[in-house]
Amino acid sequence: DAHKETLGFQTEVKQLLHLMIHSMYSNKEIFLRELISNASDASDKLRFEAIAKPELLENEPNLRIRISGDEAAKTLTIEDNGIGMSRAEVIENLGTIAKSGTAAFMQQLTGDQKKDSHLIGQFGVGFYSAFIVADKVEVFTRRAGLKAEEGVRWESSGEGEFTIETVDKPERGTRIVLHLKAAESEFADGWRLRSIIKKYSDHISLPIELPKQHFGEEADKPAETEWESVNRASALWTRPRTEVKDEEYQEFYKHVAHDFENPLSWSHNKVEGKLEYTSLLYVPGRAPFDLYQREAPRGLKLYVQRVFIMDDAEQFLPLYLRFIKGVVDSNDLSLNVSREILQKDPAIDSMKSALTKRVLDMLEKLAKNEPEKYAEFWKAFGSVMKEGPAEDFANREKIAGLLRFASTANNDDSESVSLDTYLERMSEGQDKIYYLTGERYSQVKNSPHLEIFRKKNIEVLLLTDRIDEWLMSHLSEYQGKQFVDIARGDLDLGKLEEEDKQAQEEVAKAKEDLLKRIKGVLGEEVDAVKVSHRLTDSPAVLVINEDGMGLQMRKILEATGQ
Ligand code: ADP
Ligand code: MG
Repeated sequence: DAHKETLGFQTEVKQLLHLMIHSMYSNKEIFLRELISNASDASDKLRFEAIAKPELLENEPNLRIRISGDEAAKTLTIEDNGIGMSRAEVIENLGTIAKSGTAAFMQQLTGDQKKDSHLIGQFGVGFYSAFIVADKVEVFTRRAGLKAEEGVRWESSGEGEFTIETVDKPERGTRIVLHLKAAESEFADGWRLRSIIKKYSDHISLPIELPKQHFGEEADKPAETEWESVNRASALWTRPRTEVKDEEYQEFYKHVAHDFENPLSWSHNKVEGKLEYTSLLYVPGRAPFDLYQREAPRGLKLYVQRVFIMDDAEQFLPLYLRFIKGVVDSNDLSLNVSREILQKDPAIDSMKSALTKRVLDMLEKLAKNEPEKYAEFWKAFGSVMKEGPAEDFANREKIAGLLRFASTANNDDSESVSLDTYLERMSEGQDKIYYLTGERYSQVKNSPHLEIFRKKNIEVLLLTDRIDEWLMSHLSEYQGKQFVDIARGDLDLGKLEEEDKQAQEEVAKAKEDLLKRIKGVLGEEVDAVKVSHRLTDSPAVLVINEDGMGLQMRKILEATGQ
């Protein structure tokens, strides 16, 4: 009983397919990279499961990927002997997109090809990219450990639906057959395939094989296909830094991060000594669509002595660095390490603090050497970095150095001023870092609180991100200079106001009666009424007590009904 059925794609898949076919045209060869990446993941998974169950290898322990084109038939076949899929897994993996937030993401799509192809990069293209070049795709697969009769054949033309049936498949793993569109027959050509593989997939750590090309007499051809490996087939992170080209680092990033665009920066390190491990950490170019989804996967790909162990190992970096992608390969952990063990192992804590430091150093370097790239980074991940000082007390000074703010020194709301720049620009006699928080830039930039600072030409940082008050409640100073919220308490300008002080006290005395009368009128609405030197143009301003709750925090609490 082949149990053949036709099923519809999930709506999101239909949208993705439509978009892919219509907007990825200029970069169509990347479909091969995606399929090879999946074959490599499938092999990693098999190797991992075989640690506990060696019988899964079924007398075929040599994992490899084989790719062959048939120019006459206009087909391209990609075959792996990795983990394979069961019928249920095929339906789940090749019929739906499981990532949370997908539907909301799809709603952002505009129909404008350029914008959409940009967005889709954030999402990852994956298996469905096969339909960029194929008008029919067949998948033959059998999960390792299942019987030969439990193979599955999946077929679709990439429109609304796919069919699935049970077939015999003696060899474990997955074979994907692309029936190329008439205009895409070049992808059946061996030389073209070889060059695409070298360009995008050289870093894949298992052999990628093509049929050996034979020249001369037909008679010289052996009866059976001979295969030859075309890639380097060694784990990229095990190679010395000096021997890895930038392009190789970039393609490897796309494989591990399931991203589509280049990373902003990376850091590759081998650590020897008490703990031995290699790490290769990347800063992505853009935020993933699910950066703020709680359940979104995060973390590094974990290997133990080059054997893949797990994806999304989140124990190696703090939450505020959840956007970092990459691999960590340990020589000390056991091959059967689990998430639970990782959580308890003190060695992991020390790796975590070392890796955290690596990331912060990499960001410092990026900020120093490539400020435009750092500005891009800040735009994408700045709000997440602001979670840092609260979560990672030990590194808060280092994190503070990486923060960027809007400021009265600029005429726009872009967060571009570092605390170091602020310190360099401080006025003679100034010993504090002044800031003002609020809901919108347009509102704080005109705040009466700024009047005295404008007059004295003192820079004030303008903080209007939702998380800014939370951030500032965890930062009290930077480089020994205290942060001062200029909307709070008695404004102490220290040495900057010595001349004014006496005059102010005189005014306060003279106006004592007036102050009493105003307090009488306002009553319980205010705590106190005082004469202030804060203002130069406005007659009055509301000020929050030194220890009072900030306005943003009040609003957040009000919104939650407290
Ligand atoms: P991603 O690789 O980011 O998970 P893809 O769209 O590339 O997304 O693939 C979807 C899923 O289909 C994979 O996560 C995997 O479970 C399954 N899959 C795809 N190709 C293979 C393969 N060659 N062998 C086994 N499973 C595969
Ligand atoms: Mg993939």
